[in-house]
Amino acid sequence: MKFADLHMHTNFSDGTFTPEELAQRAHDCGLRVVALTDHDTLEGCERMGKACENLGIEYIVATELTAEYDGYEIHLLGYYLDLQDEYFLSKLCQFQKVRQSRIIEMAEALNKAGVPLEADAVFELAKCKSPGRPHVARAMVNAGLVKSMDVAFEKYLKKGKPAWVPKFKISAFEAIELVHRAGGVAVMAHPGLNRTDEVLKPLIESGMDGIECFHTRHSTNDCERYECMAEEFGVLITGGSDCHGMNKGRPLIGGIKLPYVYVERMKERVARRRGEMAEAK
Ligand code: AMP
Ligand code: ZN
Ligand code: FE
Ligand code: FE
Repeated sequence: MKFADLHMHTNFSDGTFTPEELAQRAHDCGLRVVALTDHDTLEGCERMGKACENLGIEYIVATELTAEYDGYEIHLLGYYLDLQDEYFLSKLCQFQKVRQSRIIEMAEALNKAGVPLEADAVFELAKCKSPGRPHVARAMVNAGLVKSMDVAFEKYLKKGKPAWVPKFKISAFEAIELVHRAGGVAVMAHPGLNRTDEVLKPLIESGMDGIECFHTRHSTNDCERYECMAEEFGVLITGGSDCHGMNKGRPLIGGIKLPYVYVERMKERVARRRGEMAEAK
């Protein structure tokens, strides 16, 4: 039996492992298929692909986009993306620039709140195009400004706290469309975390391809509920650990082992979509 983990992050976004370390961990957990889903970036793909190839692991090109629907924040996973798709890459570049400006705004807000953190310290630590709040929190810890990342979030970075800066979000419809244009399938990430049950139906009706039913922070009840919904709507069932390396205490990789049959269904859907796209041309 082959197992997959279709949701994980490296240090090309807010994870702590390099692609090579993550691939090795996946291998050690007995995983045979992985998808790297770094936020708003495909920067780590080449290295992850090579590392997986060396270990005999099947690798899927993917990303996690932040989107918005009806006031809800939604994370949308795009799988089997075309790495050469110029339009998709230009959009990612735009999202990354917004993330970088947000870091500058957060640093300014921290300064105003009496915390002398410079944006450059965050960029130097992040060393990637797609920085986020965990990088800010870690830079604060490293500079001795707070005791832990948790304190950084609780006191400054959480919604409503002095250095919270809202994140730019594209509409969920646009995100789905973007993924489709790049030849991929679009899956709603961890609906149990965002309490987005009521938006699943309209998004599926507008073309969303699947639901991440299995996630390390979904309860057994969540997993079963979303599996039923996916079957009822006739969309893909996926799952992943959402491992961020050591950022959240311990690595979550290995926490979800998705049977390979779900990967096969995803591939069938990708092939069908690409066939339709070729016909439309
Ligand atoms: P951003 O996308 O920049 O708004 O950052 C969101 C990331 O921050 C997600 O990966 C969250 O899991 C992470 N995060 C939220 N709260 C905390 C916390 N208390 N400690 C560490 N990471 C957190
Ligand atoms: Zn993340
Ligand atoms: Fe997410
Ligand atoms: Fe994630």
